[in-house]
Formats: sequence, structure tokens, C-alpha cells
Amino acid sequence: MKAFVNPDLCIGCTQCAGLCPEVFSMDGNLAVAIPGEIPGEDVPQAVSAAEACPVSAITIQD
Ligand code: SF4
Repeated sequence: MKAFVNPDLCIGCTQCAGLCPEVFSMDGNLAVAIPGEIPGEDVPQAVSAAEACPVSAITIQD
């Protein structure tokens, strides 16, 4: 599974980085996801962070 943040949608609320810092971090005013595969143990929290994003800017896909 890989995570992507759409920079055109992200409003920089920092919520994803707070909920799942293993995968998401802030780069200035925008969140970024780690490149490549999400470690298996971090997938559930990454999905929760994606679901919590207020503007649905996060995509988690195979
Ligand atoms: S939760 Fe969504 S809007 Fe907030 S920083 Fe993360 S990607 Fe951006």
C-alpha cells in the first residue's frame, strides 16, 4: 500500500501528521506521505488518517 497527498486539496491542517507520523509529515504548509510502501504495521493508522482528512486529500492504494 502507498499513500499520496494531493497538494491541490491539502489545507495544511496537520491532522494526518499528528495521527500517523510514521507515514505523514508536514513540508511547509502541506502534508507529504513517505515515498514507497507503507510498512504493514502502519497501514491501519494511515487509513485512519486518510479517513480523518477534512478535505479528502489522502489516497491510499496498492
Ligand atoms: S489531514 Fe488532509 S488537509 Fe490536513 S494536513 Fe493532512 S492531507 Fe492536508
